Amino acid sequence: MSENAAALIVAAGKGQRFGGSLPKVYVDLCGEPLFVWAIRAYADVPEISRIVVVVAAEFHDIAEHICMKLALGTRVDVVDGGARRQDSVMNGLHAMAADAPSIVCIHDGARPLVTPAIIRASIDACRMHGAVVVSMPVTDTIKAFDGEQVLETLDRSKLRAIQTPQTFRYDLIVAAHEYADQRGLDVTDDGSVVETYGHPVVSSEGSAENLKVTEAGDLPHAAWIISRRQGRTVGCTVNIRVGHGYDLHRLVESRRLVLCGVEIEHPLGLLGHSDADVALHAVADAILGAAGLGDIGQHFPDTSEEFKGADSRRLLAEVVQMASEAGWNAGNVDVTIIAQQPKLAPHRQAMIASLANTLGVDEANVSVKATTNEGLGPEGEGKAISSHAVVLLYHNAQ
Ligand code: MG
Repeated sequence: MSENAAALIVAAGKGQRFGGSLPKVYVDLCGEPLFVWAIRAYADVPEISRIVVVVAAEFHDIAEHICMKLALGTRVDVVDGGARRQDSVMNGLHAMAADAPSIVCIHDGARPLVTPAIIRASIDACRMHGAVVVSMPVTDTIKAFDGEQVLETLDRSKLRAIQTPQTFRYDLIVAAHEYADQRGLDVTDDGSVVETYGHPVVSSEGSAENLKVTEAGDLPHAAWIISRRQGRTVGCTVNIRVGHGYDLHRLVESRRLVLCGVEIEHPLGLLGHSDADVALHAVADAILGAAGLGDIGQHFPDTSEEFKGADSRRLLAEVVQMASEAGWNAGNVDVTIIAQQPKLAPHRQAMIASLANTLGVDEANVSVKATTNEGLGPEGEGKAISSHAVVLLYHNAQ
């Protein structure tokens, strides 16, 4: 007999479908069938020399095809299950008999989030005690009922919720299942089989994350845990950034008026070192702000000859490139231009097209709005045009 341990993954359930044509152990979880996650966890444990997956006979070919493609360093065999869970376990145990391991970890295929650490701890405890169930303390108060009537409130300190793996000396679990079989006992839990057989069972520590996917609603939770373990940032809250930019330039004679890269006929133009495109400057500052890259004055100083009379579309394109290199791409942008004169509505579509082109985004993601200042302030008095911009960036590793 080998000193090694084996894993027996029970994935033979046919019911509890999540609306698809396959049982729940085949549903997709982060790009792989649910039961494959447990296989991978066991394959990552050096003590585990082989893995037997027990499946419903009608899905044998599908399961075998999935397991063959995994190309793991550990041998994986697919075995047909039986009518009851305990029959499936027996089939799996018998499939190992020719080269029996000393220890077998029996695992529920619907628990994809087991870790190598939990598995190894159960194997270590099994070497000492022969029969181990992975468990967790109970946090809810548990009451025993008779119908609607409370019989008693159980002492929570003596209760533990049982997970898998349940890890046993191979000879012991085979003997215990044969004992139960001979007596016609119906059992749903391998630990109980060993208890009934009369051998003590101890506990080793599980994890709240070692959850059983029971309902479709458990899948997003499981996917969230996998994403976090893989170091991928999770959820919108950390994968998007928002930035705001503001700029104002004086209106003077003998200057061009350029807004969002579009030259607009007007007796006055904006004064500035570059083309003084106040709207693009606000957008550039919004992007720099969202990406945490400082501000436009820092990158394009108005003391530099290089930027004298510069086309602000070139500056904005550089800002987009800088943000992209820092991991951030533009999602949508909303620009407000505050000008008493000229009327900007006729130029709105051209400004949107120009800005979308410079940002490299779809026009549907660009909004340009114009407002007067009701004759108040420098914009209202026609002395200046100002602009606000709000931009959303998303991380380009998504
Ligand atoms: Mg400016």
